[in-house]
Amino acid sequence: MTDLEAIVQLKEILGPKGYLEDTGAMARYLVDWRGAYRGPALLVARPATTAEVAGCMRVCALAGIAVIPQGGNTGLVGGSVPRPGDTRCILLSLERMNAVRRLDALDFTITVEAGCVLKSIQKAAEDADRFFPLSLAAEGSCQIGGNLSTNAGGIQVLRYGMARDLVLGLEVVLPNGEIWSGLTGLRKDNTGYDLKHLFIGAEGTLGIITAAVLKLFPRPRAIETAFIAVRDPSAAIELLSRMRAGTGDAVTAFELIDRAILDLVYANVAGNSDPLAQRHDWYVLTESFGAEGSTGLRDAVERVLGQAMEDGLVIDAALAESHAQRQAFWKIREDMAEAQKHEGVPIRHDIAVTVSRVPEFLERAIPACRAALPDARIVAFGHAGDGNIHFNLLPPRGGDPSGFHTEMARINRVVHDIVVDMGGSISAEHGIGLLRRDELAHYKPSLALETMRLLKRTLDPRNLLNPGKVL
Ligand SMILES: Cc1cc2nc3c(=O)[nH]c(=O)nc-3n(C[C@H](O)[C@H](O)[C@H](O)COP(=O)(O)OP(=O)(O)OC[C@H]3O[C@@H](n4cnc5c(N)ncnc54)[C@H](O)[C@@H]3O)c2cc1C
Repeated sequence: MTDLEAIVQLKEILGPKGYLEDTGAMARYLVDWRGAYRGPALLVARPATTAEVAGCMRVCALAGIAVIPQGGNTGLVGGSVPRPGDTRCILLSLERMNAVRRLDALDFTITVEAGCVLKSIQKAAEDADRFFPLSLAAEGSCQIGGNLSTNAGGIQVLRYGMARDLVLGLEVVLPNGEIWSGLTGLRKDNTGYDLKHLFIGAEGTLGIITAAVLKLFPRPRAIETAFIAVRDPSAAIELLSRMRAGTGDAVTAFELIDRAILDLVYANVAGNSDPLAQRHDWYVLTESFGAEGSTGLRDAVERVLGQAMEDGLVIDAALAESHAQRQAFWKIREDMAEAQKHEGVPIRHDIAVTVSRVPEFLERAIPACRAALPDARIVAFGHAGDGNIHFNLLPPRGGDPSGFHTEMARINRVVHDIVVDMGGSISAEHGIGLLRRDELAHYKPSLALETMRLLKRTLDPRNLLNPGKVL
């Protein structure tokens, strides 16, 4: 089948609303969120049903055309757009598959299509007096299919786990166009290999997720949010341990924040102000959820903070007194990605070490980067409660950003060598995509890499699904 014949068949399957071929209309799908990756496509497919996704995949398999699945296009590793040299590919956007198929309040489950925007799922759960805990700053645009394909983390992993932990069942279109229907709400099912986990975190390289059954939880009745200045990162980790013990493990979020990123948020994104009167070097933004009646939880949080202040771990703290104040605290955290965008493309790292070793990582990585690239500005923040730090280097103010970026591979090696030496991960939650592909090949043990390649060859022997990403 020629490319032209394939395109004609794809258009027939998709109908007039289901594709874009005009260069201008396609443009926004073909560049990633950071503007760092872009590539061409023969067509942007916008299927409305699982059957249409399967039909597209079958045609592309026959014609040997690659398919790049895309959700909300908020990924940070270049996985969701074609590569510059990809001349024979289509981009397949799941955005029109955005229905909530059903919500079972008694089962605490919700069945959603892949293109549902994360925030709309949170809202659907809330409307039924339930809670869907996956939460990240991109939640207004990222889609659940993308969240599952990247195994997204976010701010509540500490209590509820990663995206993987929130899934009971999946529906997936395979590279040959067959539909695997694993849409179950069962809590227990030990009938052989758990296939859904192959596709979660696979970044669209093994199948296209079209729907999912997700776990819901009781809605939190009491919420305590605190913005805290701490002595240093080791005081933060000691505070986390005390808060978990002192609140009956009610802590759901625990974010470590350095002063440098706060300054960028206040300078670059409107509508933020400092919750504390004085400047400090390190902060924690933490949240705890409790049951009916807020006084017990409030007392427990205040008790832990009071003792930590006496012991010199905490310097100052503000507890949110209203929903608006809670939102203002979280806005600061959510604006951190946006704040960096104004400073040029950073050299980023999304690393994880065991929680107790976060301070050691910072003690080693900050001086190592200062020695390797003295002019760079370092920002460090992230989900310290999960051992996950976003450790980024920004170009010097007024410096040449392109020259700065030629240092990326060298600086990545400095940071990742430290991480791997500490038994950590070079990609905690953002995935591999294109950005970390060569680093994965460098650090992942060869048996693990070969097993991943074996899986890819078995499910996608012609390498048509998101080729060149991850592996
Ligand atoms: C401001 C901001 C904050 C962020 N914060 C976090 C955070 O706290 N934690 C975190 O983990 N990430 C974070 N991210 C990264 C990003 O939001 C997540 O990776 C998110 O899960 C991506 O979802 P998406 O729908 O945008 O996917 P996309 O970017 O469209 O795609 C991501 C990958 O999944 C594949 N894919 C998408 N949909 C499907 C599908 N239906 N089937 C198969 N493959 C598919 C794509 O091919 C690509 O490889 C943040 C990003 C931004 C911009």
